[in-house]
Amino acid sequence: MTTHPKTFPIGIDLLHDPTLNKGTAFTEEERDTLGLRGLLPPTVHTQQTQLTRVLGNLRQKTSDLEKYVFLIALQDRNETLFYKLALEHLDEIMPLIYTPTVGKACQEYSNIFRRPRGLFITAKDAGRMEEILSHWPNADVGVIVVPDGERILGLGDLASSGMGIPVGKLALYTTCAGIHPRRCLPVSIDVGTENEKFLKDPLYLGLKQHRVRGEAYDALIDEFVTAVGKVFPHALIQFEDFANQNAFRLLKKYQKKICTFNDDIQGTAAVAFSGLYSALRITKQKLKDQRLLFFGAGEAGTGIADLTVAAMMEEGMTEAEARACCWFIDSKGLVVQSRKDLAEHKIPYAIDHKPLIDNMDIVDSFKPTSLIGVSGQPGVFTEDILRRVAKLNERPIVFALSNPTSMAECTAKDAYRFTDYRAVFASGSPFKQVTNGGKTFVPGQGNNAYIFPGVGLGVLASKSKFVTNEMFLAAARALAAEVTEEDLALGRIYPPLTKIRQVSATIAQATAEVAYKRGIAQQPRPTDLGAYIKSLMYIPDYENYV
Ligand code: NAD
Repeated sequence: MTTHPKTFPIGIDLLHDPTLNKGTAFTEEERDTLGLRGLLPPTVHTQQTQLTRVLGNLRQKTSDLEKYVFLIALQDRNETLFYKLALEHLDEIMPLIYTPTVGKACQEYSNIFRRPRGLFITAKDAGRMEEILSHWPNADVGVIVVPDGERILGLGDLASSGMGIPVGKLALYTTCAGIHPRRCLPVSIDVGTENEKFLKDPLYLGLKQHRVRGEAYDALIDEFVTAVGKVFPHALIQFEDFANQNAFRLLKKYQKKICTFNDDIQGTAAVAFSGLYSALRITKQKLKDQRLLFFGAGEAGTGIADLTVAAMMEEGMTEAEARACCWFIDSKGLVVQSRKDLAEHKIPYAIDHKPLIDNMDIVDSFKPTSLIGVSGQPGVFTEDILRRVAKLNERPIVFALSNPTSMAECTAKDAYRFTDYRAVFASGSPFKQVTNGGKTFVPGQGNNAYIFPGVGLGVLASKSKFVTNEMFLAAARALAAEVTEEDLALGRIYPPLTKIRQVSATIAQATAEVAYKRGIAQQPRPTDLGAYIKSLMYIPDYENYV
């Protein structure tokens, strides 16, 4: 039996501690030594038997939201079992703990609320950040995921209810890359909301006021970042689901000062670029010959383009040549230089062209090889547009990345059937495979979970001072290298999720190597970096749980 420190809880306190509770799997000996005799039904079950029970219970739930509530309750009751379930059935569990179900869970957060998880910080806590962070029970926090809730997935301002996002993302850090749950801290920064429904809802749990903006907002974020540096000096801060105007600004402000990144911009860029890289193995084309038409010029779109441009430049193109391969459509039409309404992040991509509003005119003018959907506008990849790109390309690349599923620019089925089943397709949220004439097409899911957990693990392993764009490019290439010829034969441009731990370990190594190469790692490089990274990974078995 494991020997435990003096503070190890016993009896009912142990059963109520989700990080240590094994429920019916406590052995006969443990039941006697830990004051559990009589507090559990008499039969001792293995973790595998427990898994069969929870999986059976889960599958009996009739809606995804009920399944989500069930899974969060399991996480609150027995964390080890929760992660065992997530890891062994990731295909089934990921869409429940993350997109698309997490979107619904955030919308319903105040209605389905059971127990708090994470730290809730509001605009009213200005001046008290350090004190609030020190309330968190674990001192060795490694990763903090923090939204301000203004743009949750493609669902708009969900403010404090967006807490479901960091909870879900951190569950993926643990499941996919084995970052110990104790090292993960979800935070919500609540500065108010413009969501009128929430402001009027008596059950809404967040601050009932309009959003704090301007200097007061910046001061709050600054105080948070400084307090994290003091209370959790080795923590990586992942900014998540901030609206455009703040996301780009905050990334620029902090990227070279602290260990931080923005997953909506950089993580998305890496996963989409990796998908593009693999898609080119199917279409047998070169990156330099690509013409990418982005529907959406926000965080995701310009992030993907920035990384693509960086990769094109590595392959010998000039910046101007590379940028000319990326055209953008936003809510007002083609992004062109004569427009006076362009936000700062769009300006580098504004082209010298007459204004165009009609998407088909834009397609005809640009003749894209790839459509990249990051607009949050369902259906903008219309039948006509898909048929037209299929006419222009033997194997058109179609990425409908908007989340959740209901926001995707087209469905997998439409992408395939309107291109005569020639499209190389990927989406942000999962779509089922499609069959036609006895052939199966497996849509890729450009899920950021392929990238950010591995990058986070690499940053922690090397104690990197910063998270750089070069790390995301290395991560994208490492992910693409995990895609086999068998995957490509099915049209699958990402590896199956069953390989996620291996994929994350490879990405972590690629990330850490960049930290060592650039001299920003803060601990000596182990002789066998790969083995060291694997040794850090949490395994959700009861033997390993302390
Ligand atoms: P954003 O708000 O920063 O950008 C949205 C952009 O879409 C804006 O530029 C807007 O002008 C444009 N737009 C609006 N209507 C349009 C229309 N009819 N046609 C073309 N463009 C239009 O949001 P974001 O962070 O860039 O995210 C966009 C979408 O991408 C979201 O749905 C998000 O869930 C999804 N996303 C997917 C992944 C992934 O698949 N891995 C990752 C991140 C974001």
